[in-house]
Amino acid sequence: MRPLSNMKLHVINAGFFKLDGGAMFGVVPKSIWQKSNPPDENNLCEWAMRCLLIENGQKRILIDNGIGDKQDEKFFRHYYLHGETNIAKALNVAGFSAHDITDMFLTHLHFDHCGGGVVRNGEKFDLTFRNARYWSNADHWKWATHPNARERASFMSENIAPMEESGNLNFVDLDKLSPFGEFTIFTASGHTDKMMIPMIRYKERTICFMADLLPSVGHIPLPYIMGYDTRPLITLEEKERFLGEAADQQYILFLEHDPVNECCTVKRTEKGVRLDQTFQLRDIL
Ligand SMILES: [Zn+2]
Repeated sequence: MRPLSNMKLHVINAGFFKLDGGAMFGVVPKSIWQKSNPPDENNLCEWAMRCLLIENGQKRILIDNGIGDKQDEKFFRHYYLHGETNIAKALNVAGFSAHDITDMFLTHLHFDHCGGGVVRNGEKFDLTFRNARYWSNADHWKWATHPNARERASFMSENIAPMEESGNLNFVDLDKLSPFGEFTIFTASGHTDKMMIPMIRYKERTICFMADLLPSVGHIPLPYIMGYDTRPLITLEEKERFLGEAADQQYILFLEHDPVNECCTVKRTEKGVRLDQTFQLRDIL
């Protein structure tokens, strides 16, 4: 793919929330993960919902949109939202309005990735980005709309159904080239079925939007896999392949959930792939 010279990238911080530290690190003992991710008195750790806006000519492609604000107080009581909680406000900070978005690309349909795409309007729900095409893929859509009992709480119908009802829903054909010249797509099925990882070619570098394939730098060692993952051994294989390539090709890994580190690179060591450097995206733009 040829680098697109007039492409601009904007980090859109849709706020912070908290999730159980044990659930986020799977089989890794607390005595280890608490050093990098100190939990509060309820064993909850802080996580970001860091989205990315690609601006290229008339196109404005937003990747993920955070948790949104349409659920009730009881729901949000579990997640301790803080910081910028409204994706539209976060876009305003970067100089855009929700109506400027032409494409709303969703890595997957868990509520902390797609909840900001739909807003409550009285008794009904509207799209936040009314001028945008919303993107998922057919397999993940089927998976999310016929959820297994383990993932059911993460796929909320008020986040998902309005996209289809609006007529703005589009599916990426994963057997074909990416419909976007701006990025290719790596498909991962360990976390959930057919999660899409955009790999953006930018100024001779590749910037990978890691979504839940690598939530934070604390998840780089291979067995550090979230308890939420539906197929952890598949995640293990996907991480091994992806992180090996990332080390060899010096990919920039953009971290959606890391509370502190926006981006990192990785390197091969005798112990396996490990963290190399951390930095902010603007340092390399
Ligand atoms: Zn997820």
